[in-house]
Amino acid sequence: MLNDLIKKTKTTLSFEVFPPKKDDEFQAVFSTLDALANLNPDFISCTYGAGGSKSKKTVEIASYIQNELKIDAIAHMTCVGFKQDDLQENCEALKNNGVNYVLALRGDRPQTMTDEQFNSREFFYASDMVHYLKKNTSLQIAGACYPEKHYEAASMESDLIHLKEKVDAGVSFLISQLFFDNDMFYRFKEQTDKAGIMVPICAGIMPVTTAKQLGTTVSLSGSSVPKELADIIANYGDNADDMRKAGIDYAIRQIRDLKENGVDGIHIYSMNKPKTTAEIVANI
Ligand code: FAD
Repeated sequence: MLNDLIKKTKTTLSFEVFPPKKDDEFQAVFSTLDALANLNPDFISCTYGAGGSKSKKTVEIASYIQNELKIDAIAHMTCVGFKQDDLQENCEALKNNGVNYVLALRGDRPQTMTDEQFNSREFFYASDMVHYLKKNTSLQIAGACYPEKHYEAASMESDLIHLKEKVDAGVSFLISQLFFDNDMFYRFKEQTDKAGIMVPICAGIMPVTTAKQLGTTVSLSGSSVPKELADIIANYGDNADDMRKAGIDYAIRQIRDLKENGVDGIHIYSMNKPKTTAEIVANI
């Protein structure tokens, strides 16, 4: 239950999935979700790919998680791609489907969007969306955070100031950007505590099962790669089976350490791969 996270009564386990790209691929995502549900997560979140119509897919997936699987669902929503009317319509659809949680995000500029379009969005920062949701809906709101700083922020200090504003606007809990170095997360926790950000923070973990995936992930997230993980890639990157095993083992060790250090929640970026996720969960 998501309430366990909010009340900090246990270390929660949760997963992220993404919606299907095409309309005829829903069944595959539902099957993924059925398999993930067997792992008894406390909640499952579904991403939103900026660009209008995809929001309906997020609602549909979130509704399946909530109503068919009876697991708390979080629907991601981004300022990029949502005008106020769309947001209101989306929130009503979520409520009508019994989904009570959203992850309010700024989103990134899609390649197809001009700077002018990006900069004229109605909700500028995630905190603007949080203010709106708090005032106009009864949804519970989560936010994103960055243990190694958001890539646009001039400094960690300014990022933390804006994170505090976002939380104060009405965020009940945070989900972190993926990271590979737990020390970065522990340092971030000290910084958020010092900044008076007291809501629970789920640690975002992404298992790296191929060398190529690490390259893409790092360029998107900006997360630093500890020597131990770099060595895994160097030693096993050319052997698919060994690389997969070593990547899963790395994620398991990362999560065990986080749990021993009393983290509020573990949020696995499942990449819609239930088998990998199941192997991790069986060992933590
Ligand atoms: P914000 O909180 O708005 O912050 C963005 C930047 O602006 C930061 O540098 C911050 O310091 C700065 N800032 C904030 N407020 C102010 C202010 N008042 N004045 C000046 N600067 C300010 N993207 C998607 O498109 N779809 C998804 O489903 C998705 N899911 C995600 C899930 C998680 C857990 C995470 C960590 C990220 C996700 N993203 C997703 C990516 C996210 O949209 C990007 O990282 C985006 O660049 C920032 O979003 P945010 O909500 O953290 O932004």
